[in-house]
Amino acid sequence: MSSIRENVRKLLSEIPDGVSVVAAAKTRTADEIREAISAGIKIIGENYVQEAEKVFELIGKEVEWHFIGHLQRNKVKKAVRIFDMIETVDSFEIAYEIDKRSRTEGKVMPVFIEINSGREPQKAGVFPEQAESLIREISKFENIKVKGLMTMGPRFGDPEKARPFFRQTKEIFDRIRCLDIPNVEMRFLSMGMTNSYRVAIEEGANIIRIGTLIFGERKQ
Ligand SMILES: *Cc1c(COP(=O)(O)O)cnc(C)c1O
Repeated sequence: MSSIRENVRKLLSEIPDGVSVVAAAKTRTADEIREAISAGIKIIGENYVQEAEKVFELIGKEVEWHFIGHLQRNKVKKAVRIFDMIETVDSFEIAYEIDKRSRTEGKVMPVFIEINSGREPQKAGVFPEQAESLIREISKFENIKVKGLMTMGPRFGDPEKARPFFRQTKEIFDRIRCLDIPNVEMRFLSMGMTNSYRVAIEEGANIIRIGTLIFGERKQ
């Protein structure tokens, strides 16, 4: 089995300039995360605020922290303290809460809007046609800045099947960028995971979120 260090080195050498890797670190220990950082990872993604708190305590601000899970309102206060980016905003209500808590903390929180590109009822994210109106509403908040889009897409064994969903999310990204909405910067497009990141990059992703390929199969 290859080490975390080798996995990171190989991945970083393979992806084009301008594409950033978020190491999706759910269930991983601080030591595992540190190994990834020492091999060149600069962004850590966490799905659960409580789990993030523990590793954040041990690792701190030497890396950027992205929230990539489903955020609950009662966790926003803590999330705003830990994270440098919340990738998964999908409602006015959660944005309202982030804005409020960020103001108290004296910070402007960068966020991505999560698109439910597969229109899957059980999944988080807004449907493609709802993205623009949500972004226009959120753009009025002073303590949030929309900086891009994120999508999971449906999970397929064959990554080619994910391509249309990545392509559609890129189209939304381009269209919203052209609208030049004040306080909105369409700069980052976060899509692609272990089995689909190559396709996602071909379709315009400049952030990929990688767990298994870096850390190995999850035990849980
Ligand atoms: C776990 C996770 C990933 C990474 O998944 P892998 O298939 O392990 O690379 C990416 N994005 C999100 C939101 C995740 O929860």
